[in-house]
Amino acid sequence: MSLTDIEATWHVDGDAVAPECAYDPELHTGPRDRIETAEERAAREAVAREVCEDCPARLFCTTYTLAVRPTSGVWAGMTAADIAGESAGLRVVA
Ligand code: SF4
Repeated sequence: MSLTDIEATWHVDGDAVAPECAYDPELHTGPRDRIETAEERAAREAVAREVCEDCPARLFCTTYTLAVRPTSGVWAGMTAADIAGESAGLRVVA
């Protein structure tokens, strides 16, 4: 599957699916204006994972995440460490 194929799954019945993280991006990326504590980060990531569970774009996001392998943030309910583990050995043809 190519990235073009993956991106084509973003649209459902001709309409773009609104990702839940669009409403509060820093929940998934972390605060921009300060460094959070380990406890704050763990709590934020736990909430972000819960938001991802009900996201209508999760299927697309999971496929995209495993292809792109972001190194920070919470994507499709996974942290960068989760993504590195999940995508080990996978290869997506671009
Ligand atoms: S599943 Fe992906 S698009 Fe949806 S809220 Fe989580 S990170 Fe955002």
